[in-house]
Amino acid sequence: MAKRDYYDVLGVPRNASDDDIKKAYRKLAMKFHPDRNQGDEAKKAEEKFKEAKEAYEMLSDPHKRAAYDQFGHAGVDPNMAGGGFRPGAGPEGFGGFAEAFGDIFGDLFGGAAAGGRRGGGKQVYRGADLSYAMEITLEEAAHGKDTQIRIPSWDRCDTCHGSGAKPGTSAKTCPTCNGAGSVHLRQGFFSIQQTCPQCHGSGKIIPDPCTACGGAGRIKKQKTLEVKIPAGINEGMRIRSAGNGEPGTNGGPPGDLYIEIRIRQHEIFERDGDDLHCTVPVSMTTAALGGTIEVPTLGGKAEIELPEGTQHGKTFRLRGKGIKGIRSSYPGDLYCHVAIETPVKLTEHQRKLLKELDESFRKGGDRHSPNAKSWTDRVKDLFK
Ligand SMILES: [Zn+2]
Ligand SMILES: [Zn+2]
Repeated sequence: MAKRDYYDVLGVPRNASDDDIKKAYRKLAMKFHPDRNQGDEAKKAEEKFKEAKEAYEMLSDPHKRAAYDQFGHAGVDPNMAGGGFRPGAGPEGFGGFAEAFGDIFGDLFGGAAAGGRRGGGKQVYRGADLSYAMEITLEEAAHGKDTQIRIPSWDRCDTCHGSGAKPGTSAKTCPTCNGAGSVHLRQGFFSIQQTCPQCHGSGKIIPDPCTACGGAGRIKKQKTLEVKIPAGINEGMRIRSAGNGEPGTNGGPPGDLYIEIRIRQHEIFERDGDDLHCTVPVSMTTAALGGTIEVPTLGGKAEIELPEGTQHGKTFRLRGKGIKGIRSSYPGDLYCHVAIETPVKLTEHQRKLLKELDESFRKGGDRHSPNAKSWTDRVKDLFK
């Protein structure tokens, strides 16, 4: 079955604010709550609930939402990614109603939203997202490209074996939180759980940090990642490589890597969405007499039949010679804009011929200059 549009699932417009998205999800979550849907309805409600939860998870995360807006489901779908990509950390692993309600109602109180609830103490943090700018040519954008990039990766520190403590010493229980990773603060009627300010949730402090890794327990390295650039990608689009961001803390999941596409300026073509534009210089005589001219396309050469009397600025459209966008069913068109060239470096003979030609044109009056005639008329109107 085809996946429904996330915005449709939540019943919000594409420009909905984060707040509207949250409200819409909360409403659906209430509606499909298990307490309100018994028997045969329960299963259906759970499906609906999962669908809404997935939509909410995607649209409430600005990175995922941006990827979804640009690529649709493909942008947040692991199938579109190449060899080195890991499946998206998005929709899988629904924890059922209790967890989902924990998530959304947890937000209401602005409490420790980083995921400490599940661990029952130590704060678990998702790693930060990384971004990587990649410049490609227009041809690569049009046809797609398999490439490799070098990105930072983290390995366990060999000196301290990941403990972060100098060899021979060890981490100690944090005195502020007694190893719990969190502290309780009273605020009015509420007792709020907060990450321990001293150990930042790990529950441990390292009095004597390992010198090789500075106490982090891991060392930054480089690794090679296979990247598949999909055909039709455009400037500013981002490819998500799930799990290739910075590692999480205390067993938290890693962040994602976003590869942001920049397209190098092309010598001939300018891109506008799926369409391409180019300027084709045409000699004055060919424009006047008509003839066949050769024009470039991304897929090779093509020809245009110029009719007699072609004017400067005239545009010829070559259907389907543009770019097939990621979400498009058909390729765009190529627009060739005629630029008529005035001849230069005339020989004596050519100058003579042109003078003769000019005299002949003058005898014909405006007949030979369609634009000049209407222009003269407009000027006359102006001074009437
Ligand atoms: Zn170390
Ligand atoms: Zn502590």
